[in-house]
Amino acid sequence: MNRSDVHQVADGVFRVDGGIVNWYLLRDGRDLTLVDAGYPGNAGDVESSIRLLGHDPRDVRALLVTHAHADHIGAAGPLHAQYDTPAYCSAAEVPHAHREFLEQVTPVQVLANAWRPGVLPWALRAIRLGGTTPTAVPHAQPFPGTGPLDLPGGPVPVPTPGHTRGHSAFHLPSVGAVLTGDGLVTGHPTSRRTGPQLLPGFFDHDRPATVATLAPLAGLDAELVLPGHGEPWHGPVADAVAAARS
Ligand SMILES: [Zn+2]
Repeated sequence: MNRSDVHQVADGVFRVDGGIVNWYLLRDGRDLTLVDAGYPGNAGDVESSIRLLGHDPRDVRALLVTHAHADHIGAAGPLHAQYDTPAYCSAAEVPHAHREFLEQVTPVQVLANAWRPGVLPWALRAIRLGGTTPTAVPHAQPFPGTGPLDLPGGPVPVPTPGHTRGHSAFHLPSVGAVLTGDGLVTGHPTSRRTGPQLLPGFFDHDRPATVATLAPLAGLDAELVLPGHGEPWHGPVADAVAAARS
């Protein structure tokens, strides 16, 4: 992790390129919100990205989790253990974060798709980053309220169930951006396309629901799409949704 992996994408909004997954830092003065937390093998990178911005991990008021897949919760445990950082997700995602069940692609499903371009190299990178290590967020709690959260960046959770049953996007009205998690991405090592798209279907817990959640995203007032995987995308989110549907 070095400074070139940390990109300011809007006023007070930073995207961190973790290699095959993104996480985001929202800054308000000395305070930060962390959105998603990489793979378990990215835990040190998450902390480095905070320090590269001139912050201390104690500045992180909360970790917001779009969904509790291994590539989005890796640093949750270490941050909580060392700095007491709380973690929030939708109420529907809490039991998943607690690992009362697992709605994640299994190694067998990945093997069944290993013939697809990019799947095997991606799987090897994911394994190296701890993607198959049992990972949970036992301290995860539901969002502390409805509407805009009282956290740096003023994120507004947008329910987008499908990829997992409690997946959330986060709208940032003050900068006209939306953090889409894995409900809408702009690239992935298993995709040969770039630009707004859905992940390959085998990654989704409920594909029809994932497609349906594009509708609430399309209605948001945002001209910047910040996905869990892939590059930022500039333009009306409704256009991104239309591209993903096509
Ligand atoms: Zn992901």
